Amino acid sequence: MDKDIVPALLETIEKDFDQRTFNSPKLKKSLIALKNKKATYLDVNDFAVEVGEILADVLSTNVTAEVLPDEKMYFNIAERVLDPTMKKNYELISNFAVDVQTELNHAAGLRIKGQSPLVNQDRIDGIVNRVSSGEEFEKIKWIIDEPIINFSQSIVDDVIKANVDFHAKAGLQPKIVRRVVGRACDWCRSLEGSYDYREAPDDIYRRHERCRCTVDYKPGDGRKQNVWSKVWRDPKKEEKIAQRKKMNLKKGVK
Ligand SMILES: [Zn+2]
Repeated sequence: MDKDIVPALLETIEKDFDQRTFNSPKLKKSLIALKNKKATYLDVNDFAVEVGEILADVLSTNVTAEVLPDEKMYFNIAERVLDPTMKKNYELISNFAVDVQTELNHAAGLRIKGQSPLVNQDRIDGIVNRVSSGEEFEKIKWIIDEPIINFSQSIVDDVIKANVDFHAKAGLQPKIVRRVVGRACDWCRSLEGSYDYREAPDDIYRRHERCRCTVDYKPGDGRKQNVWSKVWRDPKKEEKIAQRKKMNLKKGVK
């Protein structure tokens, strides 16, 4: 029986990954921005791309045809290597994004915590399945490169979506800004703009491979819609008032 290569491989990948994320000047810069309460989703975007690039690079360096049995990526190897490492990316990026969102909420006078989306297991499974489809590894090893970065960016998009939806339900008027980065294609160019929650295009959170466009959300921007009220609505407070009214109603019925 062949020796199980996964435990040693995973250990090397995790060690490399920890070392490189710990020493990354880009990640440090993002963390300092958060500490100084100056971080925005652009810092989160940089953070996610950097974490994604590090994992993609560590995987591409350590997972090669030579170390794989029969030079093939079998499903049970792909799953045990990619599922935990991709989940770790999700933890790192979503935790950072939620902390930034909490600070943005506070800066906008909202005393609510950032919302955290669930991990997108379908995307992880998709990459596991594609890379273990039985094709020659050399031909499909690109799947553990750019798509890992794309997955990492999608975590930021998922966090923004979760918070924008939450704020909209709380009665705020979220505004989402998408900007092109680099030599953008026509599709990306067509998505660029600043949108009210209700009129944002369906594709606002979508991105093709190698797309580095940014999606930005600052809850304070919604206030511009409400210049006349001056007062920032506090959904918790309104909830309490509504509850009180209900209680009074019940009292009245008695
Ligand atoms: Zn793009």
